[in-house]
Amino acid sequence: MFTMQWWIICVSTLGIFPLIAYSFQAQYNGDQVLQFIPADSEQVEFLRQLVENEWIDLWKPQFPEGIQPQGEVHARIPASSLDTVKGELKERALQYSILTQNIQDLLDRQIQSEDKQRFNSRAHEYTKYHPMEEIYHWMEQMKENYKELVTQHLLGVTYEKRPMYYLKISRKSDRPKKIIWMDCGIHAREWIAPAFCQWFVREVLETYTADPNTDRFLEHIDFYILPVLNIDGYVYSWLKDRLWRKSRSPCANSTCFGTDLNRNYDAKWCSIGASRNCCSTIHCGSAPESEPETIAVAGFIRKSLPDILCYLTIHSYGQLILIPYGYTNTTASNHEEMMRVGKKAADALEQKHGTKFKVGPSSLILYYLSGSSQDWAGDLQIDFNYMIELRDNGTYHFILPENQIQPTCEETMAAVTTIIEHIYDKHFPNAAPAVVALWWGVLTSCFLSMYFVNLL
Ligand code: ZN
Ligand code: ZN
Repeated sequence: MFTMQWWIICVSTLGIFPLIAYSFQAQYNGDQVLQFIPADSEQVEFLRQLVENEWIDLWKPQFPEGIQPQGEVHARIPASSLDTVKGELKERALQYSILTQNIQDLLDRQIQSEDKQRFNSRAHEYTKYHPMEEIYHWMEQMKENYKELVTQHLLGVTYEKRPMYYLKISRKSDRPKKIIWMDCGIHAREWIAPAFCQWFVREVLETYTADPNTDRFLEHIDFYILPVLNIDGYVYSWLKDRLWRKSRSPCANSTCFGTDLNRNYDAKWCSIGASRNCCSTIHCGSAPESEPETIAVAGFIRKSLPDILCYLTIHSYGQLILIPYGYTNTTASNHEEMMRVGKKAADALEQKHGTKFKVGPSSLILYYLSGSSQDWAGDLQIDFNYMIELRDNGTYHFILPENQIQPTCEETMAAVTTIIEHIYDKHFPNAAPAVVALWWGVLTSCFLSMYFVNLL
């Protein structure tokens, strides 16, 4: 009887766990997302004031100095300040449009309620968002299912002591291999990013290996994938606040938490487009590499440096393929080549579903920012370096519905494959047996025909 009761309690607790988790979530009932295009410097100044006085929560650009005349601005307006803000906007004739009528509606619809069952299902669905415990479980599964190719490694431990694992996809070989690195989820609320890392792993294991044109990549290249960089923040975004962005480390002399891990790298740290204020969403931390997550990634990359051909980091939103730099308008030494390959990748992406991406350095096409992992990798002279801001352009922003996971991942896959193909062909020009054989055939037949012509 006793055991029976416990059994019932256990089963029912498991069953309602996701529901309990949702009820802890911060509420965004009545909050709206507005889009502005300030006409002149006066309106720019006014918007900056609204941000600084915390009337609005700026999403695009990420900090007030990034607001420019004629530049697009996205911001969340809390329900409590909506009337005041709209009144002020009207007074100043500052035009706006409503991107999201009620954020809470989007949040409630993002994961369909009939789907809550899936938390107990066995097969990993790549068209769903997954809480961290499922992503840990999925990594175990990948390692088990692809013993020949996949290994799991500990990169470090987060502030809240969660293990940071990455997956290494590598075909056994005696030859030294080069590395392509990809991390996702440095910003907690950008859920589509970890979804893409999971998708990418599956595509490498299934699609790449099935096609000789992409299978050849594995002869010389190992893929290192960190599916969620900011694990503490990601967990927090599932359990407490869906729109959380930073890590979860405490801040000295402040009640606010968290460092923007993409402002914490040693690349002109906290000089521009970053904040020393603990409460800011772009807080740069107390020093470069002050956070355990940053130390883990930076340490690993430094150690593996000579072998890393490409650094890829996945974000949302904005539909951009960014190359160095953010902290300066000086371009990288191989800027032209990175632009050319980036544009080719954007073309391949657009061919999938017609989605348009812009390509260029953040300082030129977006805004200045410092301390980003991309700029840090750029300073290390890693040959290829792309930061991809996935869908969308603001309609669903961070709350991209699950039915867009598949098209987003498909198009991003086309872009990433284009980049990898270029890198591969550049570094291993003699490694394409089909092409070599073809040219060899053409040459021999030329010589043979010359020989026979001479004979005649
Ligand atoms: Zn799953
Ligand atoms: Zn991001």
